[in-house]
Amino acid sequence: MYGIPEYRRGWTFKVLAGCQMRDSGANDFSLGGCDVHDMKVELLEATPDPEEVICRAARNDYMSEYGAEQSFETVMASVEGDTLEEKKRTLIGHLMSHGHFGPFEHAQATFHVEGMSRSCMAQLTRHRHVSFDVQSMRYVAFDDVDPEDVADGELVVTPPSASDPDWVGRNQKGGSVDEETVAKREEVFTESVKRSVEDYQELLELGMPPEDARFVLPIGTEVNVVMSLNARMLMHVADMRAAADAQWEIRTLTEDVLDLAAEWCPVTFDYYEAKMKNRKNRLAP
Ligand SMILES: Cc1cc2nc3c(=O)[nH]c(=O)nc-3n(C[C@H](O)[C@H](O)[C@H](O)COP(=O)(O)OP(=O)(O)OC[C@H]3O[C@@H](n4cnc5c(N)ncnc54)[C@H](O)[C@@H]3O)c2cc1C
Repeated sequence: MYGIPEYRRGWTFKVLAGCQMRDSGANDFSLGGCDVHDMKVELLEATPDPEEVICRAARNDYMSEYGAEQSFETVMASVEGDTLEEKKRTLIGHLMSHGHFGPFEHAQATFHVEGMSRSCMAQLTRHRHVSFDVQSMRYVAFDDVDPEDVADGELVVTPPSASDPDWVGRNQKGGSVDEETVAKREEVFTESVKRSVEDYQELLELGMPPEDARFVLPIGTEVNVVMSLNARMLMHVADMRAAADAQWEIRTLTEDVLDLAAEWCPVTFDYYEAKMKNRKNRLAP
C-alpha cells in the first residue's frame, strides 16, 4: 500500500530560513527576501494515490454496496463531473467545505527534515497526532565539529534577527536597530554558540557521557527528524504553523511541507491553499 513511485521519491525543498519578517502594520507579517540555510525537507514515503483513497473512503459512507469490489469509476459514478479528475475535485471540495475531514486521515505521508533547530522541534512535536523519530544526542556525539565552523553557522541554527537590523519578531523590545547594534548582536550570538560547543567537547574529553554533556548545547542546535502524519493533520499543523504568528523557522518548514503535499495530494492541497489556509483548528471544525 505504501511507497511512492520512484520519480516522486526524494522531492526536496531547501527551507528558506532567514526569511525576513517585516511588519506591514497591525501584526500583518509577510515573508520575503530569504536566505537559504541548511534545513532540508524531503518526502520519504506516502500513500501512492491519496485522493483515490480519500474519495473511496468518503463514498463508502453513502453507498449501500461494498466499494472495494468496484472500480474507482463505478464508485465515483454519481459524483458531478465529466471526468474522474473533475469528480475528484467536486467530491474533495464538498468534503472540505462541509468540514467532513475524516476521509483525509486515510492518506499518510512521511517527511524527512534535516537541520531544524531543537527549538523548532519542540514546537513541532507538540502535535500529538504526528509520529516522530528524532536524532539522538545520547548516541550521536558532535565531537568532530570545529567550533570555528559553528561560529560560521554549522551545527547551530542562526536566527535571522542575529544579523538583520530590520527584523521584527514577536515580543521584541523595539523595532529596527542600527548596524552597530546588529553587529554586536551577531558577535554575542556567534561567540556564545561557539563557546557552548567548545565546552561540550571539553566535557566529552573529560569523560562525561554525551547525554549529559549535551546539557550545555544551545536550543538552536540542529537535529534531523522523520515525521509521519495524515493529510487532515497536515492541514491542522499548517493552520497553526503556517500562520503569521508562528515563528519564522516552523513557518517556513510548514510552507515547504505544504509545497510537497501539493505535489503528492494536489486537489486537496490546492483547495486548502485557495480556500482554507490561515484559518485555525481544522481538526476541530
Ligand atoms: C503561535 C503559537 C504559540 C504557542 N505558544 C505556546 C506556549 O507558549 N506554551 C505552550 O505550552 N504551547 C504553546 N503553543 C502550542 C499550542 O498550545 C499547542 O499545544 C500545539 O500547537 C499543539 O496543537 P493542538 O493543541 O491543536 O494539538 P494537536 O496535538 O495538534 O492535536 C490536534 C487537535 O486534536 C485535539 N486534541 C488532541 N489532544 C487532545 C486532548 N488531550 N484533549 C482534547 N483535545 C485534544 C484538539 O482538537 C487539537 O487541536 C503555541 C502554538 C502556537 C501556534
